Amino acid sequence: MKITRIETFRLRIALVPERRMVSALGHHDVSHYCLVRVQTNGAMEGVGEATVTPRWSGETAWSAQAAIEQLFAPRLLGVDVRDIDQIERCLDAAAVGNPFAKAAVEMACWDICGKAAGRPVYELLGGPCRGQRVACRFSLGAYRPDRAARIAADRVAAGFSTIKIKVGGQPDEDVARVRAVRQAVGPNVELLVDANGGWDAATAIQTLHALDDCRLALVEQPVPRGDIGGMAQVRRAIDLPVMADESCFEPFDLIELIRNEACDVVSLYPGKQGGLRRAYEMAQLAEQHGVACSIGSNLEWDIATAAMGHLVLAHRNMQVERYPGDMLGPVYHDQRVVRQPIAIEGPLVTVPDGAGLGIDADWPTIARLASNRQ
Ligand SMILES: [Mg+2]
Repeated sequence: MKITRIETFRLRIALVPERRMVSALGHHDVSHYCLVRVQTNGAMEGVGEATVTPRWSGETAWSAQAAIEQLFAPRLLGVDVRDIDQIERCLDAAAVGNPFAKAAVEMACWDICGKAAGRPVYELLGGPCRGQRVACRFSLGAYRPDRAARIAADRVAAGFSTIKIKVGGQPDEDVARVRAVRQAVGPNVELLVDANGGWDAATAIQTLHALDDCRLALVEQPVPRGDIGGMAQVRRAIDLPVMADESCFEPFDLIELIRNEACDVVSLYPGKQGGLRRAYEMAQLAEQHGVACSIGSNLEWDIATAAMGHLVLAHRNMQVERYPGDMLGPVYHDQRVVRQPIAIEGPLVTVPDGAGLGIDADWPTIARLASNRQ
């Protein structure tokens, strides 16, 4: 099953208006993707998705396309898709960084491996460790307090029991938003905050203390991504679990977080980690050091959401029961590009159990939507 062809498709898809995201990173109204189609000499093919946000990983649909076509494909043609070691070596030898572009290619290879074996990817990774229906948290943008409260109450009525509130801006506005949400949802809903690195350590500590009465369950990425010392300082000063997200891309990032005792939980997902296998190995490493993991998101579509689901099912340290994660990206968008979209009802995402990633890419629609010639 040697790789014979790698095609890329750039797509740009709007979020449905009521799901447009606001965070310390700015506004997110449109998502950009680079989809990958990998073909082999065994007539098998697989699909992958690079979910790209320049403010997040520095990648764009154009840069992912160029990396895949000009840097990765020449090294990968002729490589056996089952040899994930060799595929990782080729990707890493071609370029540093570019995790979402690398993950797109790697997940397409897993898709082919699963289809060839007639088994879902989570089984090839050693799972399943949990049931196929995974409960997620709802991620609430940094809206004005009244709007935040209204949406939170609506989502709780729709079945969500965990709400993540975006903060990391002006502390008084952050406090007002969180208070309004707590008041709207009552005492029994789990609330947590994600600052997306928007605070410094002193502001984080002060603001989180000001929110003591809101009984938060967790704080995600209180300080900028490179400030591992600041994250450790926040963790020592407050009585809340700290989750690392932007601070944890590469395996060495995780090692630094562990060495500095900077977090209790790490948000992992195939795109950010540069592949399913690397994300799985990082979940393993975290477990050895008593650090829990959950599933994070960059507003993926069905393809990369399926890959995230396979990771969640495959590793027991993806502790989504205790720390619900984010896998709701597909329903944020006004288009789906697979024939049987992933089932998402309220907070519950059903991980596909078909062979490979378990999704069926709608190539005619993808080709129609692709902006390759623009
Ligand atoms: Mg986050």
